[in-house]
Amino acid sequence: MRVVVIGSGIVGSSVAYECAKAGAKVTVLEAGRVAGATSSISFAWTNATTKQPRAYYDLNVAGMRAHLELRRDFGATPWFNQTGSIEWRNRAEDQPAYLENFRQMRDWGYGVAWISRKTLAEMEPDVNIAGIGDGPIAYFPEEGWVDPALYCAWLLRAAKSRYGAEVHEFARVTAIKEAGGRVRQVQTADGTVFAADAVVNCTGGWAEARLGDAHGIPLASTIGVLGFTPPVALTLRSQLHADDLDIRPDGAGRIMIHKISVDATMTGAVPLATDSAQAADLLRAAREVLPALQAVELEALRTTVRPYPADGFTCAGEMPGMQGHYMAVTHSGVTISPYLGRAVADEVVRGEPHASLDTFRPDRFFQKPSPVARMSEA
Ligand SMILES: Cc1cc2nc3c(=O)[nH]c(=O)nc-3n(C[C@H](O)[C@H](O)[C@H](O)COP(=O)(O)OP(=O)(O)OC[C@H]3O[C@@H](n4cnc5c(N)ncnc54)[C@H](O)[C@@H]3O)c2cc1C
Repeated sequence: MRVVVIGSGIVGSSVAYECAKAGAKVTVLEAGRVAGATSSISFAWTNATTKQPRAYYDLNVAGMRAHLELRRDFGATPWFNQTGSIEWRNRAEDQPAYLENFRQMRDWGYGVAWISRKTLAEMEPDVNIAGIGDGPIAYFPEEGWVDPALYCAWLLRAAKSRYGAEVHEFARVTAIKEAGGRVRQVQTADGTVFAADAVVNCTGGWAEARLGDAHGIPLASTIGVLGFTPPVALTLRSQLHADDLDIRPDGAGRIMIHKISVDATMTGAVPLATDSAQAADLLRAAREVLPALQAVELEALRTTVRPYPADGFTCAGEMPGMQGHYMAVTHSGVTISPYLGRAVADEVVRGEPHASLDTFRPDRFFQKPSPVARMSEA
């Protein structure tokens, strides 16, 4: 079976690896370089906390498990850091939702426990404990973070060397062609044609585009901004989530900073300077948590599109109207991808449908009532 995978971010790399492992002849077509888009500018936190409704929570938990299971295939997974997360809320108005989420996660069997301020101080001596309010502190030991570019590199290398996959960078797909209601070919911008029995669209923030005979899906993507410090002599290991601020180590002593209110200032994925108002906002908030950051300025800001299918949930399955044309697009793609890759390979290559994806089929975007109404009933 010939499977063409369009896009080589974390979703496409997972799908390509798993389809090749399942026995398909896989060709990956990537418009730019491998992992050169959203996947390289992601907070990349593996988690299911606050993920609702239950079907979406389960998908994220399956992704977290699948990250661990990749050790079976690779021995070591140098791209994955299961460091755990620590979370608190300083604003009184945020406490009820925070406490309710803790209760819900614990009831669903998620790894979460309250920890004392003393334990936090012992675990993470760099954190300014005096800057944390009186509210409870939650610890999520099973969470972690991923280096998505490394993940893609390792999975695609294995797809090529173990299972004979081909990866073409700078090969933008311009058309998917059908005949008799089935996908037949994929064409790239330079006119090259690839025969295909199945095509998996893993184009993330570009999945709205019509490609020849093939429809896209509606997106409601948002913009995300990340700030990066230079290397700093800190021993921070955990991810920290305080109010709308997220902080984590990013290797070699660099600290990655994200703040939802900074994302909200953006109207497009435009570059930001390190002396911008957004940089100052990120750094000011992070310095309150990690006083050692007083001594440094941000080294870089990176901005990109967060791929959200129009109702906010994963879109995975065959597209209506063209057999063999499959969509795999999601936010939380870093968490979900290793599971999504396996499930897609089971469906596309092995012909084994996955009930876990039933809530997330693309046909919901082409039907009435609206997908948002359907998901909120779930
Ligand atoms: C700031 C930020 C923080 C985030 N934090 C988290 C988090 O903490 N946890 C989490 O799980 N997720 C997080 N996400 C979401 C996660 O990063 C994405 O869901 C994931 O990276 C999407 O991967 P992808 O492979 O679908 O997209 P991409 O990495 O964008 O890959 C799509 C690829 O398709 C290619 N492409 C597009 N059109 C074509 C074409 N016509 N032909 C060929 N190739 C094409 C592009 O060049 C691109 O390389 C975050 C995202 C952002 C922006």
